[in-house]
Amino acid sequence: MGNIIKSTEEVVSCSDNGQHPLVYINLKPGFGQCQYCGQRFEKTTAETAQTEQTTAA
Ligand SMILES: [Zn+2]
Repeated sequence: MGNIIKSTEEVVSCSDNGQHPLVYINLKPGFGQCQYCGQRFEKTTAETAQTEQTTAA
């Protein structure tokens, strides 16, 4: 639960493994959510994906 799928694509598709009609979600705003299953997507770039920051307490 609460898992966010990160993608470098501006548009992602979701069908929840065939559980609902295939829909396309625009990630140009930086994020999106499937209207059927509620799956959240986040747009990321290859650069930021490679440089994940860890904050030490
Ligand atoms: Zn979905």
